[in-house]
Order: sequence, then C-alpha cells, then structure tokens
Amino acid sequence: MTYELDHPEIREAVAKLCERFPGSYWRECDRAQAYPTNFVQALTEAGYLSALIPEEYGGLGLPLSAGCAILEEVHRAGCNAAACHAQMYTMGTLLRHGSPSQKAQYLPQIADGSLRLQAFGVTEPTSGTDTGALRTTARLEGDTYIVNGQKIWTSRAEHSDLMILLCRTTPRDETAKKTDGLSVLLVDMREVRGKSLTIRPIRAMMNHSSTELFFDDMPVPAANLIGEEGKGFRYILSGMNAERILIASECIGDAKWFLSKASAYASERHIFDRPIGQNQGVQFPLAKAYSEMRAAELMLREAVRLYESGANPGEEANLAKMLCADASWAAGEACLQTHGGFGFAEEYDVERKYREARLYQVAPISTNLILSYIAEHVLGMPRSY
Ligand SMILES: Cc1cc2nc3c(=O)[nH]c(=O)nc-3n(C[C@H](O)[C@H](O)[C@H](O)COP(=O)(O)OP(=O)(O)OC[C@H]3O[C@@H](n4cnc5c(N)ncnc54)[C@H](O)[C@@H]3O)c2cc1C
Repeated sequence: MTYELDHPEIREAVAKLCERFPGSYWRECDRAQAYPTNFVQALTEAGYLSALIPEEYGGLGLPLSAGCAILEEVHRAGCNAAACHAQMYTMGTLLRHGSPSQKAQYLPQIADGSLRLQAFGVTEPTSGTDTGALRTTARLEGDTYIVNGQKIWTSRAEHSDLMILLCRTTPRDETAKKTDGLSVLLVDMREVRGKSLTIRPIRAMMNHSSTELFFDDMPVPAANLIGEEGKGFRYILSGMNAERILIASECIGDAKWFLSKASAYASERHIFDRPIGQNQGVQFPLAKAYSEMRAAELMLREAVRLYESGANPGEEANLAKMLCADASWAAGEACLQTHGGFGFAEEYDVERKYREARLYQVAPISTNLILSYIAEHVLGMPRSY
C-alpha cells in the first residue's frame, strides 16, 4: 500500500512478530481446531494485548488507534487475532465501571498476561440479538450470587481465567424496560469450572474456540459485581464502540491480505501465455475491492479520531464495522476468484481466510442490526424491533 499509516513502529514490530507464524502454523491449528497458544504467548510477551490498559495498572497505556494498528497488522500478515483480541478490550468493562479495588486486584495481572480475561458471556441460545430477553439469572444469597442458565458462542472460555457475564438480577416483569435489571458479574472460572460451570466447545466453520456454557447454581462473590446492580446492559453497551472499531481494523487487515495475495498471484499466474492479471476481468474486481477497502478505512479512521477526542461515535463505529466487514468480504471474494481452483486448496490459505472473514457479517453484531441502528438513531425512523 502506498499511503502513510499511523503508529509505523508498532506496525513494523507486529509484522515482524507475525513472520514467526506463517500460513503453515495457522493451517495446522485450523485442521485440529486448536488454540494458537504460541502466537497468543508471543503477543502477550510483546505487551500488545495490554496496549489499552493504563500504565498505572501495568499496561502500555496506548490510545485506541494503537490497538487498531496492532490488530490490523496481525490480520494483514495472514494471522488471526480472534484467539486473543478480547484480552485487549474485554477489560474495558472493568476499567470503566469496576471499583478501585477490583481494578487494583485484576488489571495488573491482566496486563502482564498472568490472568486471562477474554471470555464475554452475553449471547444465549434463545435470546440471540435480543439481549434484553436473556434468561440467565443471578440471585443474591447473603454475599454470593447464585447463577443459573446458559450462554452460547462464548468464545475462548476454555482459554480464559475470568469472564464478563451479563445476567438478569431483577425479574423481567419487575422492570420498566427489558434491558433494565441486567447486571455484569466478573466470574473467576478457575473456581467453578467442571463443578457448577460446564464448558462445551462448539465445532464451527472456522477455528474460533467458541463454546456453550451451562451454569448450575454457580456461586459468584457479590464483591465481583461490576458497577451497580441492574445497570449491566449500559455497561456492556459502553464498550461497543471500541469493540466495533477494533474488529473493523481486523477486517481492514484481512482485506489488505486478500488484495496483496490476489494481486501477486494475478501477476505470476500465466494462462493463455500471459499473466491472468493482464485481463481486465481479473483486475477490475480487485481494483473495486481496493477502492471499497480504502473508503471503509477512511470511515474507520474517522471513528477512531472521534473516539480519541472523547466523543461517542456510535454512528461512525457502527458504519466502520459494517463497511470494513463488507470490504474484507468483497476482497476475499475477489481473491478466491482470482486464484481459481487453487483458491480452494488449503495450502494457499485463501479458503481459511475466506471462512474467517465471513464471521464479521454476523458477529459481534450482524449487519442487519447495524442498519437498524442507522435507520433509527441516525435517520430518525421508527424502531423496527
Ligand atoms: C464464532 C462466533 C463467536 C461469537 N463469540 C461471542 C462471544 O464471545 N460472546 C457472545 O456473547 N456472543 C458471541 N457470538 C454471538 C454473536 O454475537 C451472535 O451470533 C450475533 O449477535 C447474532 O445472534 P444470533 O446468532 O442469535 O442470531 P439471531 O439473533 O437469531 O439472528 C439471526 C439472523 O436474523 C437477523 N435478525 C434478528 N433480528 C432482527 C431484526 N430485528 N431485524 C433484522 N434482522 C434481524 C440477524 O441479523 C441474523 O442475521 C459469537 C458468534 C459466533 C458465530
């Protein structure tokens, strides 16, 4: 790419680290649906996963744009940060809403990687996108919450010590709004795993370490309530802009990987005695995908700029997530097509990245819900759900 990017030293260092984890490493993990432990360890040791934790808690204290640069470069190099990106941002709920003693207790160990906080339990099988309809309950008994219910798609639960869990503490029929009465608990899974907490891995289209969780009278100390009881939904919402922006950065990294892989292949592959990339039918989808990537990237930069200026860029963060996910998907499609049959062969890594890129049309928020947000909150139309 020919234009200047922010945080060049960080980008260069991340790209160098990623060279140690080539396609063959990811293919092996993918085949076995294995956790990329060595890669996560390397990112942890380099301090990148603590980028957003303030220095007073032992983190690097860097702005969101640095987190974006790290994740973009990971994906641009053909790696996948999904195994650990949540270690970078899930702590935001604790940082913004936790008590001083909770922060002092957990953040330094999250920063040095000795504690993993990368599980985020919101989605349930019967509520899905409709978070207010979740059914997992936490009942206060003395100084302990007793949790019962189920979560689904809780990624990385097997590779996390702590989990941010959203559950209902006030019955739905006693609250004015369905998003009231929900609370956030910081669950120390080490104490309950295999007892009142059962974790079942879900084999999925790509290697994502996602799981189903079952809570059977799971005890959580009341001291692990984050913020005030009943206000959990807003605490979760308050972290959404950063999450959307960081995921959008991964999508931009993926788009760049697809485009550079495809352009190189199109120039090398000779059919009918000339490079396939000499044909406009091959060039144009790639040029179009590049232009879509650049436009999406500009929206992403705008979202980051507003976020770092202290604004609440709900519109821009949502648009960035949607446009960047669309751009990476378009680039993936053009890349696969450029590779013809070889695009389907594992050893080219295109099919793996293609499967991985597809997720961001659905998670952490689906495109439809972003469009609903824009329709309602930006264009002023009635709420559709
Ligand atoms: C690999 C993976 C990892 C994940 N990791 C996590 C995690 O760590 N923690 C976590 O809590 N969740 C996680 N999720 C869950 C993810 O956030 C949800 O899958 C997503 O929010 C959609 O919910 P759902 O799957 O229940 O779909 P549903 O809510 O059932 O929706 C299905 C489809 O209908 C559409 N739809 C639903 N309602 C409307 C409406 N009102 N208007 C228009 N369209 C609508 C949706 O856009 C979607 O396309 C993960 C999911 C996957 C696949």
